[in-house]
Amino acid sequence: MKAMVLHAPRTVFVMEERPDPTPGRGEAVARVFACGAGLTIEHIRAGRVGFATFPRIIGHEISAEIVSLGPEVTELKVGDAVTCYFYTGCGNCRWCRTDHEPLCPNQGPRVGYQIDGGYAELIKLPVGNFLKLPPRLDHKGCAAEVAVIADALATPFKVIRRARVEPLENVAVVGAGGGLGIHMIKMARWAGARVIAVERSAAKFDACRAAGAEAVVDASGNDVAGALMEATGGAGADVMIDFVSSRSSLEIGAACLGIGGRLVTLGGAGEDFTVAARQLLNKEAIVMGSRYATKQEVLDTLALAARGEVWPLVTEVHPLEDAERVHERLARGEVIGRAALTLARP
Ligand SMILES: [Zn+2]
Repeated sequence: MKAMVLHAPRTVFVMEERPDPTPGRGEAVARVFACGAGLTIEHIRAGRVGFATFPRIIGHEISAEIVSLGPEVTELKVGDAVTCYFYTGCGNCRWCRTDHEPLCPNQGPRVGYQIDGGYAELIKLPVGNFLKLPPRLDHKGCAAEVAVIADALATPFKVIRRARVEPLENVAVVGAGGGLGIHMIKMARWAGARVIAVERSAAKFDACRAAGAEAVVDASGNDVAGALMEATGGAGADVMIDFVSSRSSLEIGAACLGIGGRLVTLGGAGEDFTVAARQLLNKEAIVMGSRYATKQEVLDTLALAARGEVWPLVTEVHPLEDAERVHERLARGEVIGRAALTLARP
């Protein structure tokens, strides 16, 4: 099979011919039609994921079709249209058993980090990492869009549930122009919220509005907190979702929470920050983290997309051969929404 391989962090991709994978017990092999290219995997190329191992085929947002099964696999059949679940929980702990796989303390290898992922014609995974697509999603005709649903839309969907976003609430998305941010806007709109995009790059303001933001706050301005308060009519945000998570963005976010507000941190810098306990008390505000999505949340998001209620924004689709060029653009923050790589049909 043809595969795009990273031999070490901070190196260029190398297109290689690899032996076709053979599924062992509990595994299956799928033919990949498209694979999403986002910051989560650019972090591996850039050397920001300490636990990734090399050489590695990266990529975990896939649209694919099962082509072979290992011995005694009954959960899937040849021809099933599938996408991928990125994490591998142990399946036996309190968190796995209560539908919180992303919190499993005994995580197995992540797809594209410690086991090979979707930048190849074929992908071999434990059957538990393949999720069947609903019949109404066109995994070939809309391969790029279908591929990215499992992370780019499912991660924001989980935030909607975790932060209990309600219709007509003011939801501010910090880092709104990024790959996840744009999809967070779409999901918050789907939930009936009034969305305020907070974004530093003026080139992405229009995309934020097109995704459904009713107001855009320029994060490079002098008084971001003032602009945010103004955008909420002085009440403060009901929900502040921070994909930047620097000290300053988190402190502005906490300060701009309204009564009963929820501050959600995910991704980004993950820096320490200071929050006034008295403010949390007086407003009964909540500070929370949100991590990826459970398998059920990925399935629910796929079902929403199949019903036509939400749809991902893929603005760039390129052949796998162009991975290097796409990742250079990702590294410079030039991609709007998601990019995806497609594989030639056999
Ligand atoms: Zn577990």
